[in-house]
Amino acid sequence: MDEIIAKIDDLEMLSQIDKLVPFHGYLSTGAFIGLQMLQIARKLLDIKEGDRVFITCETFNCLPDPFQILYSCTVGNKGLKILDYGKMAITINKAAEPRQEKVKGLRIFLDPEKTAKYPVFHAWYMNERKVSHEDAISDLIEAGEDVYTWEYVDVPVSVKVKKNVAICEICGESFIRIDEEPICQGCSSNNHI
Ligand SMILES: [Zn+2]
Repeated sequence: MDEIIAKIDDLEMLSQIDKLVPFHGYLSTGAFIGLQMLQIARKLLDIKEGDRVFITCETFNCLPDPFQILYSCTVGNKGLKILDYGKMAITINKAAEPRQEKVKGLRIFLDPEKTAKYPVFHAWYMNERKVSHEDAISDLIEAGEDVYTWEYVDVPVSVKVKKNVAICEICGESFIRIDEEPICQGCSSNNHI
């Protein structure tokens, strides 16, 4: 992989890879895709280092990790939302101004019509055969932004509502109610794991 990374001449991207690798465990193709999507978003939404950003990832696989480590978007701080659609796509936006109801965001996806120009990488994307991360990332470095499609989208700003906390009638633990249900979701689904 070092030989592949040596082809990257963008110093900022190299320093991002340095932070990403220990966090994710290794440089996976999916994590690298997230990194390239981040580059596009930073340019088009004028995201600066240290800005608070919000991201929705349409897969659990690899893609969220660059945003977690480089922009501190986590599930816990509501900077990261995952929609488990199994898609290589993200929507990203900066924080809204006070009282703003929607904010300009960018949805970016890895476009199969465009990846078709890179047969090795396309074979990885479509899972047609085993392709090493080295080979897939090598194509991505060559392709750069060429394999992505994006559009601006309006992202609704979520409003903070007061939490409705109750004690579950079965387990006796407290939980945040969605409606006026008397028992927690763990007890109602009989599933705590
Ligand atoms: Zn309960």
